[in-house]
Amino acid sequence: MTTFPTITLLGNPVLRARAAEVDDPRSPEVAALSAELHAAMDELNLVGLAAPQIDVSLRVFVMKSRKGPRYPNAPEISPIAVINPEVISRSEMHLHGIERCGSIPGFWGLVPRPAAIQARWLDLEGERVELELVDLAARVFLHELDHLDGILFLDRLASLEDLVVDSEVDRLNERLEPIGQAAAIPDPPRFPVPPPS
Ligand SMILES: [Zn+2]
Repeated sequence: MTTFPTITLLGNPVLRARAAEVDDPRSPEVAALSAELHAAMDELNLVGLAAPQIDVSLRVFVMKSRKGPRYPNAPEISPIAVINPEVISRSEMHLHGIERCGSIPGFWGLVPRPAAIQARWLDLEGERVELELVDLAARVFLHELDHLDGILFLDRLASLEDLVVDSEVDRLNERLEPIGQAAAIPDPPRFPVPPPS
């Protein structure tokens, strides 16, 4: 029987730490870490998983992109391992999209993110990869990159009204319609200030 790593959950300090750069992407340890992340991502039916989510504070994540009911226009990207990622540029245009996180089970959020990014990283052979990512692929990349910097999707919510539990997720679609998928809006503050009561 295959055993899967325990996923670190909201409150675990590893999720709030800045993960360390990988020195040697070709090392057997990084290959094993990538394999563990891929297996856990599939087991949890996620489209991305970052090393701190299995309690390894290194700048590594895995991701994929595929069409689904919430992202009908998503580009198809086979599962990849991303090491020491960087964002070179990001579009001013932001899109709202529905996200969840393996480390915050039971919740979904409506999160604004750049519609497109130019990103760069190393693969498991140590080769530099540079790509423009759009739509769900850009969203997943940025969500996972945030994990390497100790940032969670909760920090990116424009309002706590944009956070719902599993059984209420369809309400986020209702909230999306009046906002419109696309909106040129600035990044929200990391820690939204509550309205005065
Ligand atoms: Zn996450």
